[in-house]
Amino acid sequence: MESFTSVRPIRLSEVEKLVALIRARLPDVVHAGPAPELLERRLSTLIEDGCLIAAIKDGEYAGVLALDLYDRQVIACYLSPALASAGTPRKLFTAVEQRALAYGLRSLQCCILAPALSLMWELGYAPEESEPDTDRPILVRKALTGLADRWTRHVFDLHDELGISQDYGPRHRLEMVRECSQRISIGLDAYEREQWMAPEAARAWESMHSAASSNGIRLQVVSAYRAVNYQANLIRNKLEKGQNIARILSVSAAPGFSEHHSGRALDLKTPGEPPLEESFADTPAYRWLSDNARLFGFRESFGRGNRHSMTWEPWHWCFHATGGVAGQ
Ligand SMILES: [Zn+2]
Repeated sequence: MESFTSVRPIRLSEVEKLVALIRARLPDVVHAGPAPELLERRLSTLIEDGCLIAAIKDGEYAGVLALDLYDRQVIACYLSPALASAGTPRKLFTAVEQRALAYGLRSLQCCILAPALSLMWELGYAPEESEPDTDRPILVRKALTGLADRWTRHVFDLHDELGISQDYGPRHRLEMVRECSQRISIGLDAYEREQWMAPEAARAWESMHSAASSNGIRLQVVSAYRAVNYQANLIRNKLEKGQNIARILSVSAAPGFSEHHSGRALDLKTPGEPPLEESFADTPAYRWLSDNARLFGFRESFGRGNRHSMTWEPWHWCFHATGGVAGQ
């Protein structure tokens, strides 16, 4: 039991408890609004995105705050009169603002009623109008760029230069990916270029590669670690050749959002097949990966019909396990 107020994202296993809480607290909204199963689905989506944040005191919700990625909006769900303290809203807002920044949002808005206005001022949110009509809900807004660290601001600058809008992360439900601090060589790729990965992922790749070989499957690397600036250069070059940014982003991730920055992602091919083509999915190599990659901690990131609205990338696999390589 947590006796102090801690703040953390709500887990999927808590959905039922949360739906019951909302239904008990707000019967009118539930009767007039979404059916319970719709509410559950909506909450599950928020939880999958890490956008439903709870303040927990004595094992109970002292407060819950949600970030609606698509409307760049904070939704105040719940504050417990018994358990919330004066500092609870600030803790919740701080956590939600960090989530928003992780998705590349540079400002947040919130629709509030007049009594909440002074609290929102304290939290740094200001109304659009200098004298808002306090009889109606008031839209308040806060810029987040001042809260961003240097790396995040660098990514924002690159996006401004390349014409990438701040809804890229929310639209694809993708968070920014930090560059790995340590990298080791994984040898030459299919085109004789040296490639690099984060150490743990590199070791997992080595095990997976040799297991595939012993099953008669040849896996070749097309791309592994890519720096943010390298990704930006890829896009710059395509812009210079006259392609438009929407088309470029349909095949290349925005700098700051590629799993390749982490040193854990690999683009793979097999001899005799063109690289980065959906036809890779028809090869024995892909079938072998589908059956075995998880044993080495690798997962296909962008499967067919993935929740990121990214095109199917059967060649792109990312290492997720952290507790050593399974299947040894
Ligand atoms: Zn990739």
